[in-house]
Amino acid sequence: MSESPASGSKSAPRTCPSCDKRVAKSAKFCPNCGVNIEEAEARLKAEAGRKAQAEAREEARAEARAQAAAERKERAEARAAARKAAAESGERQTPAWLWPVVAVVALAVIGLCVAVLLVSVAFLTVGQ
Ligand SMILES: [Zn+2]
Repeated sequence: MSESPASGSKSAPRTCPSCDKRVAKSAKFCPNCGVNIEEAEARLKAEAGRKAQAEAREEARAEARAQAAAERKERAEARAAARKAAAESGERQTPAWLWPVVAVVALAVIGLCVAVLLVSVAFLTVGQ
């Protein structure tokens, strides 16, 4: 209450951005370290703005990355589910028509072998 009534009611306490000493509101240079207060404050503000911008950009990038990862995972899960469903329906379908086909093919192969054997045996006996 008793300190610095110098520049009226609207003068809020102000500190030097460089050395943190209290300076007058109207002061252009810090009486302690001699820095240009306005310039230093502008630099600080710009730096803070740049930092906030970079943080926001990084945050957006991280969010996009997380979203892409979630989408990829969702797609992979859907693909796996579709593959599983197809495999299950295939397993259920295959025995219905595959076994007769396999049996017919096996019988044909065995019959062909027997026929070839019989024909060759007949040729051998006829030749003698
Ligand atoms: Zn200073």
